Amino acid sequence: MTEQHKIYDLFVIGGGVNGAAIACDAAGRGLAVGLSEMQDFAEGTSSRSSKLIHGGLRYLETYDFKLVRDALLEREILMRRTPHLVWPLRLVLPYVASQRPRWMIRLGLLFYDYLAKRKVLKRSEAIDLRRHPAGVALKSDYRHAFAYSDCRGDDARLVIANLLGAKRAGAEIWPRHRFVTAVRAGVVWRITLERVSDGRQFTVEARALVNAAGPWVVDVAGKMQIPVGRKLRLVRGSHIVVPRQWEGEHGYFLQTQDGRLMEAFPYERDFTSIGTTDEPWEDAPEKVAISDKEIDYMLAEVNAFLKKPVTRADIVWSYSGVRPLFETGGGRDGDLSTLTRDYSFEIDHEPGQAPVLTVFGGKLTTHRRLAEHAMQKLCAVMPWPADSPSRTDILPGGDVGPAGLEPYRKSFKQRFAWLPETQADRYVQQFGTRAEEMLKGADKLADLGPLIGADLHQREVDYLLDTEWARTVEDIIWRRSKLGLRLSPVEIGRLATYLKERPTLPQSL
Ligand SMILES: Cc1cc2nc3c(=O)[nH]c(=O)nc-3n(C[C@H](O)[C@H](O)[C@H](O)COP(=O)(O)OP(=O)(O)OC[C@H]3O[C@@H](n4cnc5c(N)ncnc54)[C@H](O)[C@@H]3O)c2cc1C
Repeated sequence: MTEQHKIYDLFVIGGGVNGAAIACDAAGRGLAVGLSEMQDFAEGTSSRSSKLIHGGLRYLETYDFKLVRDALLEREILMRRTPHLVWPLRLVLPYVASQRPRWMIRLGLLFYDYLAKRKVLKRSEAIDLRRHPAGVALKSDYRHAFAYSDCRGDDARLVIANLLGAKRAGAEIWPRHRFVTAVRAGVVWRITLERVSDGRQFTVEARALVNAAGPWVVDVAGKMQIPVGRKLRLVRGSHIVVPRQWEGEHGYFLQTQDGRLMEAFPYERDFTSIGTTDEPWEDAPEKVAISDKEIDYMLAEVNAFLKKPVTRADIVWSYSGVRPLFETGGGRDGDLSTLTRDYSFEIDHEPGQAPVLTVFGGKLTTHRRLAEHAMQKLCAVMPWPADSPSRTDILPGGDVGPAGLEPYRKSFKQRFAWLPETQADRYVQQFGTRAEEMLKGADKLADLGPLIGADLHQREVDYLLDTEWARTVEDIIWRRSKLGLRLSPVEIGRLATYLKERPTLPQSL
C-alpha cells in the first residue's frame, strides 16, 4: 500500500553518526527535517568503531595533515558539546628499537600538539617506563615511551545524542524504515520508505536529500539513479574485549610487527578493548564478522608488549565493522591502512531541480564538522540559514554546567546518594543530565522497578523504549548501553520476555 505524507525541507537516509549529525545541524537551523534508518540507529558502522575521538597520529604518516588538524580541533568541541560521551584518554606509545626512530615519534607528537591548539588536554611528553606507572604492565624490554593525549567516546550514544538534538529542534526520526527509492519531481524528491516490521510502504517529499548510508552509500545512490564516480573499498576492522589488564586509566598505542599501530585501552570500567585490524571485505556490510586470523593477530601483537599474556579464553566479547573507504589515488599500494579516512561529498544539482548530497567516508571524530560542511554545500544551492548552530549548542544530556562533567557527577551522586556508586557513574556517563529525567520521582532503589540483571532496572528499560527508540534486546544491551558485558544469559532472557510483554508506542507514523 502506498500513501502520501508530508513535505520536508531535507530528508536524510542513514541513522549512523553522520546522518544523525546532519539531521541535527539542519533541524537546528530551523529546517523541517526527516531521517530514516533501516535498522536500529548506529547498527551500521557507528557502534563498531575503536571509539577514539582523535586526530589520528597514524594519519601523519600518510601526510593526511588536513584530516589530522580538523579532527584534533573537534576533540575539545565535542568534549563541550557532549561532555558525558567524550572524555580524555592518555595514550602511551612504547618505543621499539626495530620500528620508527625515536626522533620521528617525538617530531610527530610535537606536530600533533602544535596542530591541536589544546585548552584542556595535556601536551605530549617522553616517559621512562622503568619509573612511570605505565611501565608496570609492560615487559621489561620496553624502557622508553611517549605519552600523549587524545579522547575516547561512546560512538553509539553519540548517534542517539545527535538524534535527540535533531528531535528537540523538530526533526522527525524514522528507525527501522528502509529507504526504497526516490524520484526527482522538479523541486522536490518523492521518496518511498518501507516499514521493516510489516513491509508497509509510503511516500514522503523533500526539497533536498542526503545520502548518508555509510558502507551502503553506493547501493542507496543506485536506488535514486545517481551515478557514483569512485571506487568503494570495504575494509573490515575488528576488536576483542577482555577483562581489565592493568591499573590506571591510560591506554597503549602499540607499534605492530607489520608496521601498523594498534590500540589497547580501559573499557567500560572492568574491561580492556584491543584493536583494530585492516582487512579487505568483499561481502555485504551487514554480514561482517571477526575471523580467527584477526583474533590471533591481535593477541600476538598485544602479547608482544604485555607482561601477563592475554589468551583466547579471556575474550568476553568481540565485534567487527566495515570502513567504507574510497580510492582517491592516495595511499601506499596494497596497504588498506593507508587509504584516506577523510570525508568528501558529491552534490547532484541543477537549477530548478531538488539537490541530493552524497556523503563518502568520514570518521566518528569529525561527524559534527562533516555535518556543518555538508550543510554549507546544501546552503550554497538552497535558500537556507548559513550559520551552523553546532559549534556552540550542547546536545541533550550535555548541559552539565560550565565547570564540566566531574563537578556535575559529584553533585549527582550527592543528590542520588541512594544509588550504588557504580550505577550512578554509569547513568552520568550514559545519559548525562537526562539521568535526572529518568530518575524523576524516585528516591530509593525499589522505585526503579524490578531488577532485570547487573544494575539494569525496568525503569531504565522503559526510558530507553520511550525516549531513545530502543526496541530489541540488542538495542538495549549493545548500543544504548554495554550491559551485554555484564548480563548472564538468564538475565538477557528476562529482558527479552519483558520486551515481548510490554506494549510499546509505535515508532513514527
Ligand atoms: C573498525 C573501525 C574502527 C573505527 N575507529 C574509529 C575511531 O576510533 N575514531 C573515529 O573517529 N572513527 C573511527 N571509525 C570510523 C567511524 O566509525 C565511521 O566513520 C562512522 O561510524 C561512519 O558513520 P556513518 O554514519 O557514515 O555510517 P554508518 O554508521 O554505517 O551509518 C549508515 C547507516 O545507513 C543505514 N542505511 C543503509 N542503507 C539504508 C537504506 N536503504 N535505508 C535506510 N537506512 C539505510 C545503515 O543501516 C547505517 O546505519 C572506525 C570504523 C571502523 C569500521
